[in-house]
Amino acid sequence: MQRFAWRAGFRIPCFRHLCLLVAIGASITVASAQTPAPGPPSAPAPTASAPEPAPPFATTKVADNVYVFRFGGHQSMFVVTPAGVLATDPIAYLRPQAAQAYIDEIRKITAAPIKYLVYSHHHYDHIAGGKLFKDAGAAVVAHRNARTRLEALKHPDVVLPDMVVDERSTLEIGGTRIDLIYVGRNHSDNSLVVFLPREKVLFAVDFIPIQAVMFRDMADGYLPDWLDSIDRALALDWTTLIAGHPGPGGRMGTKDDVRALKDYMTDLSNATRELASQGKCYDEAMRTLKLPKYEGWGGYAQFLPGNVERFCEYWARGI
Ligand SMILES: [Zn+2]
Repeated sequence: MQRFAWRAGFRIPCFRHLCLLVAIGASITVASAQTPAPGPPSAPAPTASAPEPAPPFATTKVADNVYVFRFGGHQSMFVVTPAGVLATDPIAYLRPQAAQAYIDEIRKITAAPIKYLVYSHHHYDHIAGGKLFKDAGAAVVAHRNARTRLEALKHPDVVLPDMVVDERSTLEIGGTRIDLIYVGRNHSDNSLVVFLPREKVLFAVDFIPIQAVMFRDMADGYLPDWLDSIDRALALDWTTLIAGHPGPGGRMGTKDDVRALKDYMTDLSNATRELASQGKCYDEAMRTLKLPKYEGWGGYAQFLPGNVERFCEYWARGI
């Protein structure tokens, strides 16, 4: 396992071929201190006849210096320190106003520069809209595999990472330690979790949803690595899970949620394996397999057949 650390903008470590990338990121970070952050936009005048609708976003404090920004059904974490802010996923896919709202929310709390924007993984619904953060001076950080994917895809609304992480890196910003950890392949091949050991907070997106089944057919999902990845997330010492989508009632997650998710994946795998051995994959298994223990979970009715399809691919084809 490779480890390296840098202290926001003051020390530039080099190892192997990563030196240049880090140096680029650090120079951007230095520039950020001189770049004024955009202020909040002027609020539209309310009409006399209709009440102002509630904004589709909200910011919640979950620990000392740790906040969750939610916009619609997506959310991300940001960490505020006197020396700067670390933000994660812009969550502005097809809605650039989400990135502006995100930055405005940060600015209500601090005037400190946004030093880093960390991508949880490369899927657009979480990371589109990073330009405003980069323009504000943030260095964009992602797993190396995410950068490789994004360089090939060239989506116009996705900013390419300035800095990459292989296995793990540790940031210290204003006295707060923030670990960026690759927990292996799961919902993609490039999920980074953001771990705050002092605050015991974990930000992990899409591979350990809170009381929800997986999205559709778990495209881009890696089996059986996913289960190992869940174990690695469980092994970290945290008490609050911030997921990429709000839990029931908007709540954060716990280790019990992650254990339940692992049970779901195990039950789904075992049940599909049995049907595969009976020659019932794909269509019959997708139509008939039910897991009533989880029927109260988000997405159960809509996405369980797709989840079964993915495990049919694994057990009936070795994919
Ligand atoms: Zn995703």
